[in-house]
Amino acid sequence: MDHEVLTIGKRKFYPGECGVVDLPVGRLVCHAELDLRVHVFRGKKPGPCLLVTAGVHGDELNGVEIARKLVGHKWRGLKGDLLIIPVVNVSAFLLRSRYLPDRRDLNRLFPGNADGSFGSRIARTLMDQIVSQCTHAIDLHTAATGRINLPQTRLADRVEGSREMAKAFGAPVILKAKVRNGSLRAACEKRKMPYVLFEAGEALRLELPAVTFGFRGVIRVMRHLQMLPERKKDAEFPSAFCDSSHWLRAEVGGIFRALIPLGRAVELGQLIGVIGDPMGREERELRSERSGIVIGRTTASLVDEGDALFHVGQTRADPERAEERITRSAEEVLPDLERPVFRDAHADQ
Ligand SMILES: [Zn+2]
Repeated sequence: MDHEVLTIGKRKFYPGECGVVDLPVGRLVCHAELDLRVHVFRGKKPGPCLLVTAGVHGDELNGVEIARKLVGHKWRGLKGDLLIIPVVNVSAFLLRSRYLPDRRDLNRLFPGNADGSFGSRIARTLMDQIVSQCTHAIDLHTAATGRINLPQTRLADRVEGSREMAKAFGAPVILKAKVRNGSLRAACEKRKMPYVLFEAGEALRLELPAVTFGFRGVIRVMRHLQMLPERKKDAEFPSAFCDSSHWLRAEVGGIFRALIPLGRAVELGQLIGVIGDPMGREERELRSERSGIVIGRTTASLVDEGDALFHVGQTRADPERAEERITRSAEEVLPDLERPVFRDAHADQ
């Protein structure tokens, strides 16, 4: 890539220049033009070109807030280029919805098609005009509606450099997870572009712990990529690594009470929840089917038979040690006020 000039839409950016570009991606039914807003920060010296995206799912607000904080940051000593798109899926964002107006999931339409559906065109514009110019990417997400995620990065480990980026990000957990076809992640992989997928919190809610972890994670990745000067203090901050995960499902429907918060170690057979019969007195105990760490959970209080209740990650290390790491990372990163939220206010401890 030519380090002298970076062209985004119709605007040219020279080293040291910053600015905002609104890339047209189509029109809404009310004729209003729909733009993809891109914040551009160029360092004076050359370096990687990092893309940070949020709002690929329109109801995921934590990433949007992380992007907003990044946009407001003073990027002194920046090397290379930082491109930030706070809301990729603007039409879904307007609807407060995960999905596009045609109910499709934008994150299954990548790399997109210029002659395809509305969402497919947005995906294509993002790929052709932005991703094609970048060397690294960070995509910010939350759990889908009705679920909450412990702050975590997802790693497929198929592109060189991604694992190092995830480690540098320093989320409480790194989960090895498959890549979904049609996702932005899959499109980055196809280009052999190292990336981080960050998942934290729940849809339609702003959670400061998730935002704090995400913001710090991006800065730490930029230090790792030598886009920012390194700080020694950041070096020791290991994530708990989960090789796989599984969902513990409801054997019966009813009123669900969680007995364990996010980030906790569970043992095989441990009592972690209760499902009460809404029409009677009976209660069914929910016991862990494997040992691991609770990395996600339903937020529903009324559940049907078969509903996914707890997402448990299997750690290479002893789960107790993984829990310690998670607690330590929360203590290091979060001010006192935010920590109780991190420990999951929903759980009935
Ligand atoms: Zn998402």
